[in-house]
Amino acid sequence: MSVKLIAMDLDGTLMSPDHITVSEKTKAALKRAHSMGIKTVIATGRTLSVTESVTNQLPFIDYVIYSNGAAVYDRCKGKNIYTNTISTETVVKITDILEEYPVFYEVYSNGCQHAQISKAKYFTNSDLPQEFLDEYIKGIIDHQSIADFAKDCGAEKINLYYFNGEHYGEIKQRLSEITEITITSPVMGDIEMTERRTNKGEALKGMCAELGISSAEVMAFGDADNDIEMLGFAKYGVAMGNASEDCKSAAAYETLSNGEDGIALALERFVFTGGKEKIIVSACLLGENCKYSGGNNFCKEALMLYEKFRVLPVCPEYFGGLPIPREPNEIINGRAISKSGEDHTAEYEAGAEKTLYIARENNCLRAVLKERSPSCGFKRIYDGTFSGSLADGNGITAELLYKNGISIYGESEISILLDESEC
Ligand code: SF4
Repeated sequence: MSVKLIAMDLDGTLMSPDHITVSEKTKAALKRAHSMGIKTVIATGRTLSVTESVTNQLPFIDYVIYSNGAAVYDRCKGKNIYTNTISTETVVKITDILEEYPVFYEVYSNGCQHAQISKAKYFTNSDLPQEFLDEYIKGIIDHQSIADFAKDCGAEKINLYYFNGEHYGEIKQRLSEITEITITSPVMGDIEMTERRTNKGEALKGMCAELGISSAEVMAFGDADNDIEMLGFAKYGVAMGNASEDCKSAAAYETLSNGEDGIALALERFVFTGGKEKIIVSACLLGENCKYSGGNNFCKEALMLYEKFRVLPVCPEYFGGLPIPREPNEIINGRAISKSGEDHTAEYEAGAEKTLYIARENNCLRAVLKERSPSCGFKRIYDGTFSGSLADGNGITAELLYKNGISIYGESEISILLDESEC
């Protein structure tokens, strides 16, 4: 099933590390996706008015999920198509607590940020560029008393910035006792409060239902904990290389970081797949947890193959019926023997045959295989002593592919492949 909608978080995901610009490469990739009829959606913790600087750079964006999913704005119709806000009574409970401390907080209401600028002296974060902070403050509607303003309105979200505060834990604990809200902390020191059932995933789900798009047709990108529900909803949930560990666990896939155009690379991987040479690649190099230990051999260069090739991930040992995790095996006298002495040659050969079948069916002439492995290693493999020592020889799959005319590259040779394909 093809991708019909792409949803993207902003900071740490779509935005460059300066938090202000979208890179030219990412812009071009999204424009190309949009020209193919794919809906493009921003999904942010920011409020609607603050997303203008982004939609000015990407004027084709169709929808904005803002305030962590409290509302969805249809840019074509010029109106919200979904809202889920914090009630006035709950807003008062929150502000009553916050007013007891020296903190800066914002109330997001009707798509705008409201705050008491005189409290901005409490908003300090050396991790954010001053230029970004200056722009940020400019977008705020100032109130003499933010607590008084908040008494009269519901809120899409309330944001507390408290980076250096000694009362951080105490405030968070008191806020967490308010059962009508959900609390998230996208970055340390930032506490975001929304209505209990509000999150980007719920908003995305509601929007997709409205548009008749299934989760199998959705791709979502994120890097922080407030993206987890959205990544879990989308079939193509993609965590950025710079994402939190929880975020990576919630996503089905991982890409490069926001500073390395991770979104553009993932679009090459899942959307712009036509007309590219197909290439076999050891799945463990792409981050698949298929290694004997249950982990992977993630290699950033292997991920970059998606820019130039239609990558076909394979794991011959898994294909051959071996479990994950499993005992390590090495080649001894041409046979695959486990550390405890069991002979798994039949499974290794079955996996090799299946990999060759995939290569032939897809007219693959080249393969990038994990070096030293008893299946995938080429020219040098572990020597059968389970000591980490190497010997001349090929893994069982590498040998079969090579004998059938497929050129083998190890992960240390990927740059040659990428450079070659540019000629
Ligand atoms: Fe990686 Fe190949 Fe081993 Fe699978 S068989 S874990 S792809 S080295």
